[in-house]
Amino acid sequence: VKERGRDGIAFFEQSMQVAASERLAIESELRRAISKGQFCLYYQPQFDYRSQRIEGAESLLRWQHPERGLIGPGAFIDVLEQSTLILEAGRQILHQACAFIAELLEAGLITPQFSLSVNISPRQFRHASFVDDVLEAIALHDIPTRCLSLEITEGIVIENINDTIDKMNLLRSHGVHFAIDDFGTGYSSLSYLKQLPVDLLKIDQSFVRDCPHNPNDAEIIRAIIAIATSLHLGLIAEGVETQEQLTFLHQQGCEQFQGYLFGRPMDASQLRSLLQNPPDY
Ligand code: C2E
Ligand code: CA
Ligand code: CA
Ligand code: CA
Repeated sequence: VKERGRDGIAFFEQSMQVAASERLAIESELRRAISKGQFCLYYQPQFDYRSQRIEGAESLLRWQHPERGLIGPGAFIDVLEQSTLILEAGRQILHQACAFIAELLEAGLITPQFSLSVNISPRQFRHASFVDDVLEAIALHDIPTRCLSLEITEGIVIENINDTIDKMNLLRSHGVHFAIDDFGTGYSSLSYLKQLPVDLLKIDQSFVRDCPHNPNDAEIIRAIIAIATSLHLGLIAEGVETQEQLTFLHQQGCEQFQGYLFGRPMDASQLRSLLQNPPDY
């Protein structure tokens, strides 16, 4: 850019301004979305190989935009997570998820063995009220704590690992489970991750996509499964789209799966019918 001299720099500054004003516009739209309750959760089933049943689901954020229709988080999650808006949105998400667990239990569609996971952004986790927010949502909807699982990423510990561990232990003492999402894609060392009191690792879909044909991905998957086994952690593979991927992952020792092969993210009523009439897998 520098070599292009003045014009290049001017162009650079101008595009930065556009990005900043665009960000502000998205932020104000997101603020409106939160106050008007336009965020809703979709749910993607999680399949357990041993029981051959759906034993959990992941909640995934969607924006029901009045003009533009349903919008996935790829289009707005960064802006949301980088502003304090994630705090209010995060509380809404926790409440919706807990309300849905209560409703499914009430309808007899799930047992307390079922787990619904919620994605937690680092900023939301680090906020002083986080533990209280989670416990409040659980208490308000009067659900068994073990039905709620929280997905965090390695990025959560960049500031203060002791604070992270304290919060996790506090929530776990109430029965909340923790999963490390996108495992293997961050920059944390294994000795660092080993200190986190988690229950489950999620094998990132980037490793699943080209397995078993890509030998590097296949090796990484074997290594992740070995880590989970030796640390006595649960394991779930995400992004499973084909029977071939499923067979490979199962042969390597993975028993839980999530991906289009078992169902795309779906709205609450679709998940209810799936639980009511489970297909033959
Ligand atoms: P993630 O947590 O890694 O979620 C998995 C993503 O993979 C989802 O995208 C899901 O729809 C997609 N997916 C599931 N199965 C398959 C498959 O078989 N093949 C392929 N190609 N993709 C599959 P989605 O719903 O667009 O969410 C994207 C990301 O947005 C999530 O990645 C998560 O990081 C973030 N996110 C979603 N919901 C929330 C939320 O409630 N709170 C926060 N903080 N972040 C969220
Ligand atoms: Ca996730
Ligand atoms: Ca993931
Ligand atoms: Ca991801």
